[in-house]
Amino acid sequence: MKQLPAVHAVLGDDRVARLIAAYGRTETVAAVREALDAFRRQRQGADLSATVEAAAEVLENRHRSKVRRVFNLTGTVLHTNLGRAPLPEEAVVAATAAMTGAIALEFDVERGSRGDRDDLVEEWLCRLTGAEAATVVNNNAAAVLLMLNTLAVGREVVVSRGELVEIGGAFRIPEVMTRAQCRLHEVGTTNRTHLRDFEAAIGPEVAALMKVHTSNYTIVGFTAQPAEADLAALAHRHGLPFLIDLGAGSLVDMERWGLPHEPTPREAVAAGADLVSFSGDKLLGGPQAGIIVGRKDLVAQVKCNPLKRALRMDKVRLAALEAVLRLYADPDRLAERLPTLRLLTRPADEIAAQGQRLLGAVQAALGTRAAVSLEECRSQIGSGALPVDLLPSWAIVLRLPEGGTGRGRRLEDLAAALRSLPEPVIGRIANDALWLDLRCLDDEAGFLAQLGRLA
Ligand SMILES: *Cc1c(COP(=O)(O)O)cnc(C)c1O
Repeated sequence: MKQLPAVHAVLGDDRVARLIAAYGRTETVAAVREALDAFRRQRQGADLSATVEAAAEVLENRHRSKVRRVFNLTGTVLHTNLGRAPLPEEAVVAATAAMTGAIALEFDVERGSRGDRDDLVEEWLCRLTGAEAATVVNNNAAAVLLMLNTLAVGREVVVSRGELVEIGGAFRIPEVMTRAQCRLHEVGTTNRTHLRDFEAAIGPEVAALMKVHTSNYTIVGFTAQPAEADLAALAHRHGLPFLIDLGAGSLVDMERWGLPHEPTPREAVAAGADLVSFSGDKLLGGPQAGIIVGRKDLVAQVKCNPLKRALRMDKVRLAALEAVLRLYADPDRLAERLPTLRLLTRPADEIAAQGQRLLGAVQAALGTRAAVSLEECRSQIGSGALPVDLLPSWAIVLRLPEGGTGRGRRLEDLAAALRSLPEPVIGRIANDALWLDLRCLDDEAGFLAQLGRLA
């Protein structure tokens, strides 16, 4: 066995005193022991300095925050794996206030009595959607689960075969139905479902008719789905509620900014839907939330479901959501103030100009490792919103020099090098190149500042 210093000798070292000041005694002692154990396992000797350095490395790695800012240059604006919507300043201020002190969360300040946390956002949600009532939960998956479990437990819910969606792996309509303890009654076919299919399905076991927005795919060709207003009328003739899971749920018509139309909760309510659910952190551009709007009596039932408590939203996100909803009161300035909308509406020529500014620096940083060019590309909105509509954008494209073996692996290595920067740069590999879509590049200075490390 090679020579190693004793623990007490290491702890007496001046450099270790600095580690204790930074991380505390317990953590530092544990790290010194870990470092010594590692040397022992590798049958390696180490002097005092090497041991202190190894302990410092253990501590640094363990205490580096796992919440890391990254540059989202994937070309997907609302990227679920990168946290979806960035929040506006107004939401950050509101969330900070809620985090750092007591707030009137479930408290009626005027009367001095108990209140309801939904009151923070209900009035705004009703104004913005035309609904009678609203409630909010953890996310849209929770909202769908809660709607179904409240209105259809032990009974059937009729859904078109063309709308049995899966979102991001874990959210699948048939499985949510099971977990909500109701039975899925599929009607129609994958491509065509008619009003008469729904009508034929209605019987004593049926508790609701439901429409699910096919947010991350489209069925094209010989297709048919009944209109929402017709489904609502059919449901109401039989005394049944008509539910819509809208998915992204933009609160304003995106066509106003030249973006493709995405169905809004206001349209769904106007078409006669009794409850409509949608996400807070997709096109709405707010914090993660599941919003349910609709008929007052049905929202009241939802609020009484014990699951509502299990799925409720916390004060920090509620405060952020309220601040975001208030921005919608002024649609004229929304595209400047709401980051999601600002990124979605960034003009292609502005993105190209940014690319021109960055091109030389990126090429200089990469040297001969890759050829760098500025090329047109298409960004995606993401999060299952508007899957086939792409936004014209520009990307810095990195291509490997011609020839050589293992090109695929070397391209992966290049992507990994960009990800290993202090603020990782996340691009997308396509067509034998690494694409850095600049649409979401806000912090240009920060991006440039760390490029030197690639050399
Ligand atoms: C995104 C989506 C969901 C899930 O919403 P989360 O907020 O991610 O929980 C459910 N249904 C549809 C149609 C969706 O697009």
